[in-house]
Amino acid sequence: MSAKKSSTPAAGAIPSSHPRHASLMTRERIVAGVEQGVTSIHGLIAQGRGEAFDYLIGERTQPFAASAIDAAAALLLRARHPVISVNGNVAALASREVVLLGTLAGAALEVNIFHSSPKREQAIRAALHAAGAERVLMPSKKSALPGLDHNRRFVNPAGIAQADVVFVPLEDGDRCQALRAAGKDVITVDLNPLSRTARTATITIVDNLVRCLPLLCERVIALQKAGPAAWAKALSLYRHDRVLKAAERAVRTGHAPAGRR
Ligand code: ATP
Ligand code: MG
Repeated sequence: MSAKKSSTPAAGAIPSSHPRHASLMTRERIVAGVEQGVTSIHGLIAQGRGEAFDYLIGERTQPFAASAIDAAAALLLRARHPVISVNGNVAALASREVVLLGTLAGAALEVNIFHSSPKREQAIRAALHAAGAERVLMPSKKSALPGLDHNRRFVNPAGIAQADVVFVPLEDGDRCQALRAAGKDVITVDLNPLSRTARTATITIVDNLVRCLPLLCERVIALQKAGPAAWAKALSLYRHDRVLKAAERAVRTGHAPAGRR
């Protein structure tokens, strides 16, 4: 199967009138990512878990996510050295959007995957270049995050190693903790408000990656224009514990504040 063919989701197979069209199309993107060698087969399980939580929050961007998106935009703009960490699921779902976010926020892109595979690291790099990235940093054996084993500890000496703010969507809890322990602020996107990642991060956007990235890009543009006082305000309004509690309530009760699709 050619890369071009497999990168196109089975659009014809899912009519746009289907009530869960967006979710099913997102699933097709992850399947295409696996076929292209960008996403690990384990990524299918992560996606399935995300879908279950998304169903419970009404498959909509809820107010608890909107306040986190605002704070995330502010933290990225205020950062001295922001880096976006890209894994196989992120590359399959949102290569173009992370490239755009990097440009808007002045953040570097760095490949980092859970299941070690130099071939897949290169495939992710190629996907980001195909999506318009000029420079993609790769993990290096010369620089390691303390407190982690295996492949995930390796970072780029000019990238995550130096970063003060790391944007790591769909991250594993251990690595999020290691980044925090290394003194970095972490922004994550995680549909599970109970995960270790969601709890450990500085800012957690409990929303689907494909819905929140365009909104995050919009907020970066708006806050860039508004200036540093607006960044400080957005950050002062963000309450991590309250955001996670509101998201957990929505998940447990099925009453999502902004309703359902
Ligand atoms: P942790 O290690 O943080 O405790 P975990 O082991 O339960 O979490 P992982 O497999 O490490 O989960 O990470 C995947 C996380 O990403 C899950 O919490 C899942 O809900 C979330 N997720 C998967 N797909 C998406 C998506 N498209 N948008 C947002 N979140 C997603
Ligand atoms: Mg995990």
